[in-house]
Amino acid sequence: PLSKLSNVGTTIFSQMTQLANENEAINLSQGFPDFLPDSELLNHVDHFIKKGFNQYAPMPGMIALKEQIAAKIEHSHQAVYHPDSEITVTAGGTQAIFTTIASFIKKDDEVIIFEPAYDCYEPTVELFGGIVKRFEMKAPDYEIDWNAVKNLVTDKTRMIIINNPNNPAGKVLKENDILELIKIVKETPILILSDEVYENIVFDGKEHLSVCKYPELKERSIMVASFGKLFHVTGWKIGYCAAPENLTHEFRKVHQFNVFSVNTPIQLALAEYMKNPDHYHYLNQFFQEKRDFLRQGLSNTSFELLDCEGTYFQALRYDKISDKNDLDFARELTISHKVASVPFSSFYKNKRDEKVIRLCFAKKQETLERAIENLAKL
Ligand code: GLN
Repeated sequence: PLSKLSNVGTTIFSQMTQLANENEAINLSQGFPDFLPDSELLNHVDHFIKKGFNQYAPMPGMIALKEQIAAKIEHSHQAVYHPDSEITVTAGGTQAIFTTIASFIKKDDEVIIFEPAYDCYEPTVELFGGIVKRFEMKAPDYEIDWNAVKNLVTDKTRMIIINNPNNPAGKVLKENDILELIKIVKETPILILSDEVYENIVFDGKEHLSVCKYPELKERSIMVASFGKLFHVTGWKIGYCAAPENLTHEFRKVHQFNVFSVNTPIQLALAEYMKNPDHYHYLNQFFQEKRDFLRQGLSNTSFELLDCEGTYFQALRYDKISDKNDLDFARELTISHKVASVPFSSFYKNKRDEKVIRLCFAKKQETLERAIENLAKL
């Protein structure tokens, strides 16, 4: 057969964005800010382009940026990564995830994921012949039953993929979750791919618990982060991965043939901009206000607002509004109410439909106001 991914279509994010555009709907589906990044950051990019930094960066990334990344991680999580040998700049979080899976997953290796799961994990594992085992987290709490997870582990388990804070459920792992994870992996060869792209968007004073804070996890983890989420520049497609030297060594073998290296002037601009941690410390508060504004605005509707502890996504249950399945409901909402969302069933292999949709609140105040107005009568 020609297709290596015969069950895969176009991502739900592209589909819903297209439907939003066709219907001139407010696009709260795909997760991206509709406001400008800081002009100081834009000025840095302009500066480095004009200064002539327009050729290939070193394969693993510009040292100035890798040093700033190491400093950020040490400052946020008290964990030390060597900028030269343990940090690699990538073309976004998705490439870091792809390259990690490509580097470590062979035919018949088993990979455990938690659903609702971000959409790229499973097809990428499949592409390299791996077998996905899944634990389904369920509405409304999306709690993890670690005994059930433990039962998924076999001697073929090669990797566990965690996503903390979780997109789309907005769940943040608690210390107990991390301790249970440690119990499962310690004294095994299991690697952890930790997708932490929303690490700086956590609410209500909760602490983001990175895998790198825990030595038993750090030694086996590939941690993935994203500048798109950190500085409102999803279109720049730049992120990084931090991992111990032996894992980074393998990662870079693939990375060098996958993208080779990443945008030079943007790396330099980010390095300059990161020198001031205030440039990301405000994010928790900034997005919490947007979350609260959206929740307040929808509080008189029949939507059930599920908890949102982190990320810039609010999950809504609509079972009091419609019997439609979540994909049909999301389409109808886009066409008739001019608000585009993402149905949660897209994040489950078995299309589990608990009548939940996801709205992105990384939007200007006026965008959120218009969306609330459109949904007010439901
Ligand atoms: N991370 C974004 C989201 O969850 C989507 C990125 C993409 O379109 N692939 O909406």
